[in-house]
This record gives sequence, structure tokens and C-alpha cells, in this order.
Amino acid sequence: MKITIAIDGYSSTGKSTVAKQLADWLEYIYVDTGAMYRAVTLFAMRKGLISDGFFDKEQLIKKLDAITITFVKNPSTGKAEVCLNGENVESLIRTLEVSSFVSPVATVSEVRAKLVEQQQRMGEEKGIVMDGRDIGTVVFPNAELKIFMTASAEERAKRRYNELLERGDSITYASVLSNVIERDTIDTTRKDSPLVKAADAIEIDNTETNIEDQFHTILQ
Ligand code: C5P
Repeated sequence: MKITIAIDGYSSTGKSTVAKQLADWLEYIYVDTGAMYRAVTLFAMRKGLISDGFFDKEQLIKKLDAITITFVKNPSTGKAEVCLNGENVESLIRTLEVSSFVSPVATVSEVRAKLVEQQQRMGEEKGIVMDGRDIGTVVFPNAELKIFMTASAEERAKRRYNELLERGDSITYASVLSNVIERDTIDTTRKDSPLVKAADAIEIDNTETNIEDQFHTILQ
């Protein structure tokens, strides 16, 4: 029997790493919902609707129908990559700049409604692992397995910093740490679907756990 697995938690807790491992192992579909919010953010940036200290929510809401988000499989890695109106934007959405605007964009109820509806449609077929912030609470409140991941902000920032360095981005650890903390604050305090552990989710703190152990715990 195939089930629905919801993985939620704070920024850079390794949700997508473990979600991908599980999906590969179980031969399930994996959906990274953060990538969908990031793609909407990239759209808003390109249209000049968001920049430092400026966010034209009303215009973004008006333009939502002009946004189509899809996923394509990268044939060499096997990983699903996100497309914005048909353009593969997977690497463009991972910058610190997109990370700094995505949480304000994710506070907009109309953006959430659009993406949640699409996510629920993707989950109509069982055998899905979806990661995000509201999967166990809003998208799939009846998911058979819910995981809530945490780790210290410093450890999360260290992991994210190393990832960005590997990509060749020029950033500082301090800027990554402040982004991680800021996103946590916005995500946990927003009015619509704040980041909160579902009552029936299993909490995993992976500050000191290695990825392999964590994978086996969840699989069990
Ligand atoms: O998972 P990731 O860090 O890529 O998500 C980027 C941002 O998108 C989060 O910080 C959060 O603001 C937003 N998000 C959300 N709900 C989701 C997934 C992501 O609000 N289900």
C-alpha cells in the first residue's frame, strides 16, 4: 500500500535531502514545495514587484494567473527540477537573493491558495513525499506519515553556507545565518498557515544526527 509522506520543518534542516532519499527508496514521487514558492518569487523579482524594502503584493496577486509552475526530470541526476512558465529555473531560485524575498512572498494568501491547490492535485495519487512548511497541517492533514524536522539555526546556516559556496556564490556565513533566522521568524508568525508542527507529526532534531541514521529512523 502506498502512502502520503509529509515532511515539514524550519529552513535548511535537510528536509529535501531526506525526502529525496525516501522517494528514491520507496519509488515514490518527490515534490519540493519550497521550489514552487521560490519560482513565484523569481517571477516577482523579474517583474520588478519585489526588491529591498519594496513589495507590490497587489500587482503580484493580479499576475498570478500568468504563472505556471511545472517540474521536469533532469535526465542525468534523476532529480525533478522546477520550471517557471516552461523555463527551467532550478539553479536561479537557489540564490541568497531569492531566499531573502521568498518568505514575504509566501505570506500572501492568494499565492498560498494557488500553490496548495496544485500540490493537493499532485497528491491525488498516493505514493508521494512532499516537503515544505504546511504539508502535514494544510496540504495533506490526513497524511499517513508526518515528519517535523528541526536543527539549531547555526548548524542549518553552516550547511546552507557550504552549499552556496559549492555553487560558487560569494556570500558570508553571517548573511546566511541572518537569512535563516529571518525566514524562520516570518514563516512561524505569518497569519496564513504559519509553520507549526502538526499534532501527529514525529519530530526529528538532526543537529547532531548524520543523514544515514536519520533516513533509517524515518524509514522504520
Ligand atoms: O524549503 P525552502 O527553504 O526552499 O522554502 C523557501 C521558503 O518558501 C520558506 O522559507 C517559506 O517561506 C516558503 N514555503 C512555505 N510553504 C511551503 C514551502 C516553502 O511557506 N510549503
